[in-house]
Amino acid sequence: MSTDLLLRRAETAPGFERDLAIEGGRIVAQPGPGEHVEIDVAGRPVVPGLTDHHIHLLATAAARDSLDCSPTALAAAGGLAALLCDARARRPEGWLRGVGYDVAASGPLDRTRLDPLGVGPVRIQDRTGIRWMLDGAGLAEVLPPDPDEWPAGVERDGAGRATGVLTRLDRWLGERIPRQAPDLAGLGAWLAARGVTSVTDAGAGNGPDELAALAASGLPQRVTAMTRDPDVTAPDGIALGPVKILLDDAGLPALDDLAARVRAAHDAGRAVAIHSVSAASLVLALAAGVDRRDRIEHASLVPDDVLPVLVEAGPLVVVQPALVRTRGDRYLAEVPVEDHRGLHRLGSFVGAGLRVRAGSDAPYGDPDPWLGVAAAADRRTAGGQVLGAAEALTPGGAVRLWCDTLVDDVVVLDAGWDRLGDSPPVHAVVVRGLWAPTGSQRVP
Ligand SMILES: [Zn+2]
Repeated sequence: MSTDLLLRRAETAPGFERDLAIEGGRIVAQPGPGEHVEIDVAGRPVVPGLTDHHIHLLATAAARDSLDCSPTALAAAGGLAALLCDARARRPEGWLRGVGYDVAASGPLDRTRLDPLGVGPVRIQDRTGIRWMLDGAGLAEVLPPDPDEWPAGVERDGAGRATGVLTRLDRWLGERIPRQAPDLAGLGAWLAARGVTSVTDAGAGNGPDELAALAASGLPQRVTAMTRDPDVTAPDGIALGPVKILLDDAGLPALDDLAARVRAAHDAGRAVAIHSVSAASLVLALAAGVDRRDRIEHASLVPDDVLPVLVEAGPLVVVQPALVRTRGDRYLAEVPVEDHRGLHRLGSFVGAGLRVRAGSDAPYGDPDPWLGVAAAADRRTAGGQVLGAAEALTPGGAVRLWCDTLVDDVVVLDAGWDRLGDSPPVHAVVVRGLWAPTGSQRVP
């Protein structure tokens, strides 16, 4: 039996408090007569659940499974021991895998330093990629019992025991460690703590196997998945998204071929989502018959004279505002100045009447939606320059890019409305009518 929720004193707009009833997973205007679980949110801002409209879940989870052990990351985590213990708390089973360790900056590393932490099995790759450092539990899993069978490259101490340092044995090690399924549930919890209640997986290679993995993942979010082929049925719990078509600028398809793929998807009752990061690929996509039911992913470069053509065709445009922050300095340095005004448009898309939504493109972008909101509002690069000031939105307008009008999930914030553009802490999310507290907040 699904419980109905009544959020008391929800501030659904600045200065406007109401009781918010969610019944059968839907927001209703008036609470019905049935039993409700009442939660007093004490005047906290309640905003629509955020949707990451473009993320690669499996790749993002896999990337998160590697711990960044670079000097900067270790400093931020409070040292290697803190980093490894925290990772072990999040992933109780299996190997921990670290990368980017700098022996010169962070000190020599072998099993004598790793074993006392008791977090194994663990393996950490040094910055150059030449060496792996393992703890005793890790060594026990990969080394043959007979030392005569150890390959060259296994470092030994004076007593002939393995120290844990393995040199140029990357391939050998890889063959001895079972591949782990990426921790999708962990990624889902991390996203929920940032207010993400639904996701669209944009995997261009998604087929039945990937969809089954997503369905079995235990993600708390609602999941929509794009697929490679039009004729795919979605497993329970996964909504079928558009057919993904990746346009690679190094080898664009012939117009007729692309038009045939778009038509095949439409004939199968599916929309297409076309990856376009250049003016040439965008013009090709529009000529191939993309229309209002379809999506353009990224639209990272739209010259002035192409914008009206895009508006005329009217697809949903899915942008990645956070890239202005994380890659903006490189764009400013490498993209010809005359193209700058067409880069990662936002305000001019919205102003022209296009429907615009946002995603992270993680793991190629940062999965934190609030970084995207902030960058959409200030258009600042990491280096502090401004890229396309005229494209900026208000923080409220930026948040709307992560919303989906058809979703009844909400986010309860732990900060005022003035913090919208500044990573507001998330108190709880409600997904499909289920109250899910985040972070340290665990009641009721
Ligand atoms: Zn992508």
